[in-house]
Formats: sequence, C-alpha cells, structure tokens
Amino acid sequence: MDQFIGAHTVANGGIHMAALRAGSAGMRALQVFTAPPQYYGDKASMRPERIERFRSALSQAKIALEQVVVHGAYVLNTATEDEISAIDREFHMTIAGASNNAAIIHTIETLWRMRLELPEVRQGHAMVCRKDGQARQKEHSDVVEALRKRDPGGARLAMRRHFNRLLESMLDESELRALDDLRRRAAESRERYMLSAKIA
Ligand SMILES: [Zn+2]
Repeated sequence: MDQFIGAHTVANGGIHMAALRAGSAGMRALQVFTAPPQYYGDKASMRPERIERFRSALSQAKIALEQVVVHGAYVLNTATEDEISAIDREFHMTIAGASNNAAIIHTIETLWRMRLELPEVRQGHAMVCRKDGQARQKEHSDVVEALRKRDPGGARLAMRRHFNRLLESMLDESELRALDDLRRRAAESRERYMLSAKIA
C-alpha cells in the first residue's frame, strides 16, 4: 500500500494557499476544512474561480486530488432537530422534576407544548438551534455544574441565562423573518406596479 505524508495546513489567504503551503513543506497529501470550523449551519459556497485556483495550486504543489482529505467543520451534529429537541426537553424536565416545584414543571411543559404546536415558534426555534449548538451545550453544562456543586442560586442563574439567550435569539430570528417578508412583499407590489404600468 502506498503511504502519503500530509498535513492540515493553514488556509489563510484562501484554500489554495493551504495546498501551496503543504507542497512547499514537502507534503504529498492535504487535509482541509469545508468551511471555517467556528461557523455552524454554514452552507458551503464554492465559486468556480476558487475551485480553479485550488486545482492549479494542487498541481503546483504536486499533490494529487485523490490525496486531499476533506474534514467536516468541528462540531458535526448528526442528530435531527426532533432528536435534539427531545434531548433538550428531557434535560429541562429532569431538572424541573428535581426542583419538586409544580410551577416550574408546568412552565417547562407549557414552553415545550408551545414550541411543538405553534408553527411560528417551531420554525424560529429550529433556526436558532441550527446556529447555537455550542452555546446551548455550554449553558446546559453550566446548570449541571452548579447543581453538582449544590449551588441552587448558581443553577437558577445559569438556567435564566440559558432561557434569556434563547428567547433573545428567537426574537432576533423572528424580526429577521418579518423584515424578509416585508422586503418580499414590497418587491412583489413593485413588480405588479411595473406590470400594470406596462399594460396601461
Ligand atoms: Zn435547553
């Protein structure tokens, strides 16, 4: 079996620079990211000129295309939204249940029902979830950490931070959607106007 020594080189200046760097370091294989690893829910955009530049950099670096390994962004999340939502619900229900506080349990149950039954909320939440995976994980572990330290005040604070951040992102998201909607309707009525002006 042929063996190749490669590197995951820095892509500053463009992905083709990663190929050139690997080549000048004597590498025969290369690993690259599909997208900056700190972006979530980012759709890979591939402009043709970028592909061209990358291919010619590879041949200049004498790295065969077959020796390029593509690494997904750091946090690959293979769970579906429904699964994530179920896990999230379980987390919050477990903590609410541990509080033995009927009002808290009721609130969490109501929040989840709202999220499942109102399409607007559901859509907003799905959009936010696609972007905030890491923030949610951190906030959840802050809550767990405080509980582990038997610090109910800290846990309450961490939980409040989690819900506030979520709520705020959902509001941002719905404002963005409302703005998009407005833009689309304005464009449509402009089109209708242009059309009627043409006919007249
Ligand atoms: Zn949560």
